[in-house]
Amino acid sequence: MNMLKDKVGMIFGVANKRSIAWACAQACYEHGAKLAFTYQGERLKENVEKLTAEMDDALVVACDVTNQEEVEAAFQAIKKQYGKLDFVIHSIAFAPREALEGEFVTTSREAFLTAMEISAFSLPQVALAAMPLMETGGSIVTMSYYGAEKVVQNYNVMGVAKAALEASTRYLAEDLGKHNIRVNAISAGPINTLSARGVKNMGTLLSHIGEKSPLRRNVEAREVGNTALFLVSDLASAITGETIYVDCGYNIIGV
Ligand code: NDP
Repeated sequence: MNMLKDKVGMIFGVANKRSIAWACAQACYEHGAKLAFTYQGERLKENVEKLTAEMDDALVVACDVTNQEEVEAAFQAIKKQYGKLDFVIHSIAFAPREALEGEFVTTSREAFLTAMEISAFSLPQVALAAMPLMETGGSIVTMSYYGAEKVVQNYNVMGVAKAALEASTRYLAEDLGKHNIRVNAISAGPINTLSARGVKNMGTLLSHIGEKSPLRRNVEAREVGNTALFLVSDLASAITGETIYVDCGYNIIGV
């Protein structure tokens, strides 16, 4: 199947082969998409270049979202190489480690603003830069987590940032809908990635959800990738502004 034939996608957030963004990229690439990858800082450049070395016509560009010039340069590079953009997968987040343990009430101003800037503001920032390249329409997908709506121990400021991210998804869906650009979030169950390991007691959370979710297991990155593939494809042409759970059903459980 070639669900993304002739489509060009931009993937934010590949740090290594465990990254959710990488699982999304693999699913999209297998379905015919051409892909541009962003990395944050020279440290990750080599990783991303190695991972994408076998991919046809892949572009790898620097893009730290706290650097507006880099964001603009990344979109310029895509325009130069492909002339257009059909979808964006936004799979980035950051909060200082000390803010991801203990009590939320002690969150520093700096940690709060950093988490909000990188994990939430970057979505409208990237959407604005993507719009001119999505002349006939497009699809933007971001990654959220259940801690946006319910209290999850240690998730703290990241839960607040994810709540802002989900609300941003809805506001962007309304703004961009008239340009035939859809914006959706995936609320993924916990997956053992580099970022996840920054949250204290992640192991306990994984085993709890592995036992309690209706499917009695944790989600795999590729299952999130497959949902992202669906959302950026024309099969999802009437879906926008949604937060879709890919969490083995955990969110439906009450007591
Ligand atoms: P990864 O650590 O693999 O990916 C996070 C990415 O965000 C990294 O590539 C990281 O780069 C990037 N990033 C951080 N700061 C910036 C910045 N200033 N500019 C650009 N990129 C930046 O973890 P995941 O794959 O788990 O995370 C991907 C997304 O999925 C995140 O939004 C996360 O919150 C979300 N998510 C994750 C879940 C999980 O359990 N793993 C569950 C639900 C949602 P660097 O390494 O250099 O910091």
